[in-house]
Amino acid sequence: MKIGIYGGTFNPPHLGHLLSAKAAVEILGLDKLILMPAGQPPHKVMPAGSPTGEERLEMVKLACDSLLLRDKAEVSDLELCREGKSYTVDTLQALHEQYPEEELYLLMGTDMFLTLQNWREPGKICSLAHLAAFARNESDTGEMLEIQAKYLEETYGAQCTVIRLPLVTPVSSTQLRELLGKGNGEGRKYLAPSVYGYILRRGLYGTHADLKALNDDDLRACSLSMVYAKRHAHILGVEEEAVKLARRWGADERDARRSGILHDCTKYWSREEHLACCDRYGIKLDPLERENEKLLHAKSGSAVARHIFGEDAAVCDAILWHTTGKANMSLLEMIIYIADYMEPNRVFDGVEELRRLAYTDLDRAVALGLAMSIEDLTRRGALIHKDTQGALDWLNEHGKGN
Ligand code: ATP
Repeated sequence: MKIGIYGGTFNPPHLGHLLSAKAAVEILGLDKLILMPAGQPPHKVMPAGSPTGEERLEMVKLACDSLLLRDKAEVSDLELCREGKSYTVDTLQALHEQYPEEELYLLMGTDMFLTLQNWREPGKICSLAHLAAFARNESDTGEMLEIQAKYLEETYGAQCTVIRLPLVTPVSSTQLRELLGKGNGEGRKYLAPSVYGYILRRGLYGTHADLKALNDDDLRACSLSMVYAKRHAHILGVEEEAVKLARRWGADERDARRSGILHDCTKYWSREEHLACCDRYGIKLDPLERENEKLLHAKSGSAVARHIFGEDAAVCDAILWHTTGKANMSLLEMIIYIADYMEPNRVFDGVEELRRLAYTDLDRAVALGLAMSIEDLTRRGALIHKDTQGALDWLNEHGKGN
């Protein structure tokens, strides 16, 4: 097995790190990639006001997840947990003991590769791992890297691979910290959206965003930072579908967009987190809701929309009812309910009929969605929430069902 180790201060992790890591995985045929945020790096002083180690770890986890490499990529806190300065040779020794049979590849950009002879125990580093180097800037020529590779091979018996990146991303964390501090959103283009959202939510690097007055882009980044990357396509799909439906049926487009963006923001919370949130904001729960995370995320999501992001009542209610539905739903509530059901990434028998109805007869589309849910839950032996049955009954009683 080939294991790549990509260490860095990651203060913050940016697209230069991510695109080079992804290319290295493909080009070297790595079976596993370990991103390793440094504790106290020996060669750098952490700038004042830097995030805590836990915050850097969290950002690297979000960045890693955004690679969508599933089980292949992971983040290690080995160096963060180590007392004092972090030396790569100690990390490689520990990984070698953990994976004695596997080939280790140490990944690094030009700046690190060109100074490797100055690190602690370069000979031992070269005996423990292959070195894989890539350019950071257009001015880092392949020739420069090849000369250093030859030197390290001759001096330490290193095994080096120079990786030609398909695209060089000339950005550094230092530049990015400056850009972020300006607070004009310029830094976002160099970051995974979820990392940018996390930075905004925590107010890192002097961003000081007012979370209750975010524009749509920043709100989206915040929402994406709260869920696993595998859910991002769905959230973007609901947003897109909700806006189209709002246009079709004359609902408020901005509310539709923001409801779509936030509807699943607490999807991966634990039951305890949902309950604590509902308790804190006085949201009453019935016994079925208390036991069921699927139902709980609509309640806690609505509370977060209101109390953290300052959304208006229409948006919060659309999020509140997006899972169960309820009797006599508002236009926006129906739009979010059905958008969640039939957004472009959904694939199941009957979705085409839902899509057709959503644009021709919204009441009947919602009624069909509710009936399909009830049928599915019944087949699986699950309890039907009274609001779901109530929503369908209401539509039928008012001649709006199927
Ligand atoms: P700082 O500006 O704070 O020094 P940095 O941007 O150099 O940070 P680090 O976390 O120190 O980032 O770098 C970790 C590793 O990532 C190093 O091997 C570095 O060469 C590499 N690296 C950093 N930026 C890029 C980039 N834009 N493209 C490719 N590799 C990069």
